[in-house]
Amino acid sequence: MATIELHQVEKKFGEVYAVRPIDLTMHDGEFVVLLGPSGCGKTTTLRMIAGLETVTSGTILLNGQDVTQQRARDRDIAMVFQFFALYPHMTVRQNIAFPLQAQGESRETIDRRVSEVVRLLEIEPLLNLRPKSLSGGDRQRVALARALVRRPTAFLMDEPLGALDAEFRETMRAEIKRLHLAQNATTVYVTHDQVEAMAMGDRIVVMSQGEIQQVGTPAEVYYDPANLFVARFIGSPGMNLLTGRYAAGVVSLPGENRYQVPAHWQAALDKQIGEGEVILGFRPEATLVGGSGQLAAEVYTDDLHGSYTMLHLAFNGDDQIIHARAGRSQIYPIGTPIRFDLDQEMVRFFDPKTEMALKPEVARG
Ligand code: ATP
Repeated sequence: MATIELHQVEKKFGEVYAVRPIDLTMHDGEFVVLLGPSGCGKTTTLRMIAGLETVTSGTILLNGQDVTQQRARDRDIAMVFQFFALYPHMTVRQNIAFPLQAQGESRETIDRRVSEVVRLLEIEPLLNLRPKSLSGGDRQRVALARALVRRPTAFLMDEPLGALDAEFRETMRAEIKRLHLAQNATTVYVTHDQVEAMAMGDRIVVMSQGEIQQVGTPAEVYYDPANLFVARFIGSPGMNLLTGRYAAGVVSLPGENRYQVPAHWQAALDKQIGEGEVILGFRPEATLVGGSGQLAAEVYTDDLHGSYTMLHLAFNGDDQIIHARAGRSQIYPIGTPIRFDLDQEMVRFFDPKTEMALKPEVARG
């Protein structure tokens, strides 16, 4: 059981900021995902929590105790890396038992704990094999078993599935989640894959350029992105963002499109924008295609995704491509003019100057 707190933790390499001062609390038993593009500082953050990297300034607390200056091996935390190096000359059993042997546990305790963990991960048949005869997925299972066997209070995982092919990733993703639920150990998981983050995290910490952009549940970062970066980064494709001019309840968009702002947003726009530029944001599934919708576009191309069709629409000529989700049986030849509306509950607004999301003044609904 562990609570991990970061207070104004920063890391500079020379004059370069890898992590700007951040505050973050990971609650006991929580699965927290650090998500962001390459170079945003997520690995450095994880390594500082592990004690593998010193902090430039700030404090790290583990269960309320200051561990900032403590060495990695004195922190009760286990780290699983992407390329987890198993000892090639040892069998799977020996590999898993190794951390317990190093701690000087008794033969009996080692046997019991190894049996428990191999049962949990369903790798009993592999016990006498050596790593080189295992598949990538099985190697990763053994790596997880070796981390789990110590029963640390917290797990830190750095892209543990990065080296696996798509099918194994899904299996292992489910497995890690199942293990987490079974053990309830606080887990901090680094990935640049937002699908993985959405699927696994209780909360997601979206990072960019060494800074935290947003901390929230998967639903919060998806439906209520704090700013344009999160709106674009989360979702595949990201949120549609159209720049227009707001005045008196209406956003005038390119191509003579006029969008009547839902009543519950008008006070917010009047107050926060007044009259001026605003960015209208909506997810592909917020589009209601067909009928006599307020907005017009033209079919650019479509992708069939099995259960639905993703339409790529040219908005205002070829100026901007937006994405709309339509039923799987709807077929639209390229060039078809289309009208669409937006689900009022799913539209969002951003201030182009600050890039921040506007806050609705009145509760939705
Ligand atoms: P990736 O997914 O590519 O690992 P990341 O989000 O984990 O990216 P970090 O590895 O934490 O990012 O790196 C953050 C920044 O710090 C990058 O600009 C990186 O080049 C820099 N950096 C990381 N480690 C060092 C180091 N040991 N020396 C100098 N600069 C470093």
